Order: sequence, then C-alpha cells, then structure tokens
Amino acid sequence: MSEPAGSGARTSRIAAAVTAAVLFAAVGIVLALTTPWNPLPGHVPGGHAAPDPALDFSPGEIARSRAFDSAVNPPAYAGLVAGLVVVLALGLSPAGSRLVGWTTARVRRWPLRIALAAVVLTTVLRLCGLPFDIWSESVLRRYGVSTQSWPAWLVDQLKSLGVTWVIYTVALLLLYALVRRFPRYWWAGAAGGGFALVVAVSFLYPVAVEPVFNRFHPLPKGDLRTDLLAMASRDGVPVEDVLVADASRRTTSLNAYVSGFGSTRRIVVYDTLLKSPRDRIESIVAHELGHAKHNDVLWGTLVGALGVAGAICLLQLLLTSPRLLRRAGVDVPAEPRRGTGASDPRSAALLLALVAVATQIGTPVQNLVSRHIEARADAHALDLTRDPGTFASMQHELSVRNISDLAPDPVEYLLWLTHPAGPERIAMARDWARMHHAPVPPPLRDR
Ligand SMILES: [Zn+2]
Repeated sequence: MSEPAGSGARTSRIAAAVTAAVLFAAVGIVLALTTPWNPLPGHVPGGHAAPDPALDFSPGEIARSRAFDSAVNPPAYAGLVAGLVVVLALGLSPAGSRLVGWTTARVRRWPLRIALAAVVLTTVLRLCGLPFDIWSESVLRRYGVSTQSWPAWLVDQLKSLGVTWVIYTVALLLLYALVRRFPRYWWAGAAGGGFALVVAVSFLYPVAVEPVFNRFHPLPKGDLRTDLLAMASRDGVPVEDVLVADASRRTTSLNAYVSGFGSTRRIVVYDTLLKSPRDRIESIVAHELGHAKHNDVLWGTLVGALGVAGAICLLQLLLTSPRLLRRAGVDVPAEPRRGTGASDPRSAALLLALVAVATQIGTPVQNLVSRHIEARADAHALDLTRDPGTFASMQHELSVRNISDLAPDPVEYLLWLTHPAGPERIAMARDWARMHHAPVPPPLRDR
C-alpha cells in the first residue's frame, strides 16, 4: 500500500478535516457568544449620536490626520503586498526549498537544519519588509510621532527579529519532530501543541518579551497611584500593580494596555500619558479595567489557541498534498521515508507561506471582534467614571496626539483597525450621557 493514496493516509486526512471543522466551529461559537455585538446596550433617548470628525476636530487637525494617513498608507500597503508576494513566491515555487537546501547543505542533524531553516526564512522575509518599515518609520519621524534615533530603531528591529527566531524555531522543531515520529497523525499532537504554545506565549509575553523592548517600573506612590488602585478595587478587579513603560524613548503617542492573565496580569501605562490631567488618566485606566473585568485577554487567548489548532489540522491537508509539495520543490517519494515529503526541512518555506495566508484571512475577523471588545471597554470606562466629558476629551487628545485616522475607509477597517475610530468613541460618550441623563459633552472643536 503506497501513501498518500493508501487508506490509512486517507483516514488520517478525513480525521484532520473533521477535527479542523469542529475546532473552527468552536471558534465561531465562542466568538458569537462572547463578542459584545452591542457594546452599549439600552435605549438612547433621541437616537445614537453620529460620529462626526468636524464636530470635535478643527480643520487643521482634520487636515493633518488626512495628510498623515496618505503618508503612512503607501508603505503599509506596499509592505503588506510585498511581504505576501515574497512569502508566496518562496513557498509555492522551488525557490524557498532551494534556499533552505542550499543553506543547510552541510548540516547533518535534522534539528539543526530545522532551526537554520527557521532563522534563514524569517530573516529573508524580514529583510524584504525592511525598506517598507524604514519608509514607515521615516513618516512617523517626519510627523514627530517617533522620537527614536535610527540606531535605536535598528536595535528594536534586531530584537524583534530575535524574538521571531525563538518563537519560529521552537514551533518548527516541535512540529517537525511530530511529523517525523508520527507521519500520519502528527497533526493531532501538533494541534494540541499549537494550542499549548499560544497559551504559553500569552502567559509569558508580559514577563519574557515586553521587558526586551521596554523598561517597566511601578507607578510611584502618590495620589495618582492611590486613585487608580482605589478605582480598580471599586470595580472589583484585582490589580496587583500599575506599571509605567518608558515608551517616551521611542514615541510621543499615548497608550495603555492590560496584558497577561492570572498572576501576570498587569495594567501598563505609557510614561507619555503621565503628563495628562489625572481624570484623563483615570479614564484610560478605567478602559483597561474593562478588559480585565471581562477577561478579554483570556478569551482572546482561548480563541487564538483554538484557531491555531484548527489551522494546524488544515495544514495537514495542505502540507501532505503531493501536488503542493512538488510545486514547492520538495521530493515526494512513492514510499515515504523519514525526512522526505512534509518532514523534509525544505518544506518549511511552504509552511510559512500557508501560515501567512491563514494569518491574512484571520486578520479582518480579529479586527472586527477587537473593535467590539474595545467599544465594550469604553462603555465600561464610562460606567465606572460616570464622566463622559473627560472621556470625550481624552479620546480627542488620543486621536490628535497619535494622529489617528478620523474617517477610515472600509479597507482600513478590515486590515488595520483594532479600535473604533476616535469620532466613534466620542459619539459613544454622547450616547452614554443621554442614556444616563448626564451632561452631553459639547463639541470639542471650538474650545
Ligand atoms: Zn482597549
């Protein structure tokens, strides 16, 4: 009986397809049930406020946002397209397998060949993206958003490449070990391993990766710290610490986030934010508490882990397809031997191409769900602070300082927008005020 036409191989493929369908159905169910499709439930007297940049932003601010948008879009789109073209050209032609074969020709041990393949391929892809990243960075610099020197920026790029090397090397070593050991049912172990790896990365990221890029220190004792921790305890969210990241080393933009869960969960504010008035900082931290309260990181991790496990099952169907393997320049012998077909390290380029396609397909869905989760965190901030005026001023300041897109087009929503646009967030503050008979924030343009 010869593979992959043999009945054992066929059974394995059917099992992988069924498991993938079950896992993606689970992703769909979790997303359908946990996504806050209506982040601000209830009746808004007089109807919802329409997002309107002209109401809250001066003509100068709107013009600056438009100009910035048309300066950052070309490198962003060109980089995205170039990245996909290169990864697909490497994976769906013999180019990638030749590159891996050539760079690993003198290496005997397969784990070393895999590690080398991971490093070489991710480095080539990063180098292809570098011109576009330099282009983007020069725009940020021109608009004063980036404060980094070019050498410091380059060091960041190298660190981020190092993190990519570690994650890809670990993931590929585990995957190829399974493919070699269990030629038919490796995908079952790999799906479980992929699930565990996503959970581990989400748990370790705040303690292992974030410190590579930023230094953190606890927000010093004082009124602000006391206020923020009091607000967290009033909210019923256990927060051990509020940390300050020294983000001003590279940017003027304002941000805060909550990362990790369980004992690694923390609220991080950029040091750039600390110059803002205290009630505005409270407004931002109240938003982050909303993420903590609804366990957004935990649910996001679960969905990501299920999605990765499902994608690995689909991968089995594609990565064992003799047609795809031959197209990728990987030998497919009639009698499978260890180290040939999918278990040949030269199939790594095909693997990366498939991962890139899967990621690109997942992005619009991720962004859509993320925007609703962010809107719920906004509603939570309004409920907690009961101060829509400050919320609206803070969102205005965020949009102006970060030169956010005030009127994104549908493609930008699909590809890039993880948060609602500033005017939408301000409109929600007005809706909240009407619902709670609080003073409706007046137009911010003419202050
Ligand atoms: Zn958020």
